Amino acid sequence: MQKIAVIGAGTMGNGIAHVFAQNGYAVNLIDVSAAALEKAVQTITKNLDRQLAKESITAAIKNETLQHITTYTDIPSGVKEVQLVVEAATENVTLKLKIFQELDQHAAPDTILATNTSSISITRIAAATKRPGQVIGMHFMNPVPVMKLVEIINGYATEKSVTTAIVALSEKLGKVPCVVNDYPGFIANRILMPMINEAICSLYEGVAGVNEIDTVMKLGMAHPMGPLQLADFIGLDVCLSILQVLHDGFGNPKYAPCPLLVNMVTAGYLGVKSGEGFYKYTAGSKDLVVSQRFL
Ligand code: NAD
Repeated sequence: MQKIAVIGAGTMGNGIAHVFAQNGYAVNLIDVSAAALEKAVQTITKNLDRQLAKESITAAIKNETLQHITTYTDIPSGVKEVQLVVEAATENVTLKLKIFQELDQHAAPDTILATNTSSISITRIAAATKRPGQVIGMHFMNPVPVMKLVEIINGYATEKSVTTAIVALSEKLGKVPCVVNDYPGFIANRILMPMINEAICSLYEGVAGVNEIDTVMKLGMAHPMGPLQLADFIGLDVCLSILQVLHDGFGNPKYAPCPLLVNMVTAGYLGVKSGEGFYKYTAGSKDLVVSQRFL
């Protein structure tokens, strides 16, 4: 593989484009929003500058990486002649099914179609195409240039040769691939989200405060971030939607989202992205300040 397309230039899409481009792949970065594409190139440049300042890359690598990225606002022009598409558009089933139908129509017949979805069934996305054997989950972690894991998810119909190609490609990117099967939440979120939900329930039931819960998990379990801080970082709306996928998919009440999480999302307290969740975030400050609501 030499040329790939990334659909969606948001948080994940810009990181995925950055990593492929830095490893020598020509990247077509596609987004419906020209503003999102502009912001993505700015973010990639800023992140490359940070790598340059740490001397982990040279100025030549920074320039080459940026030269490898071409931006497009439409799928048909951007997916011509690519061997792989990595879709990282907004997490919405209807949208993803539509994008995959369009990809199937415009990408070459042997192009592999991967999705970075956190929770939508790969098998369902694959079924929207005429090439379900060539559809696979390629779940990068945020921030993509830093996090080593790629959770590779085999849909029900994914061909073995496709999995082998994506494993080899992930290794070429300097990542560590882990192959799992397509069931709700895959592995990462099936284990992470119930832990986050349990932390929120412990807070809701008054077992302990925000600081205490996060400190127990940081110092006691050697987690770099407590579950409540991590939930704020991921976005409480994203956590809620993944818990709903687990709850619906397994029909097991153990995945029922905590009522406190539901209330916070309904009220717009989404964590870092909205400025407040379990902690309060002030632009320019790196201090971790517990929200007044939990003091
Ligand atoms: P985001 O909202 O930051 O970016 C999504 C981008 O998709 C936006 O720029 C939007 O304009 C674009 N988009 C919407 N419709 C499009 C279309 N039809 N064609 C092209 N682009 C379109 O979202 P994100 O956080 O980067 O998440 C993207 C995907 O990655 C989701 O499936 C999400 O579940 C998954 N994911 C997110 C994280 C995370 O921590 N944010 C981690 C792992 C996986």
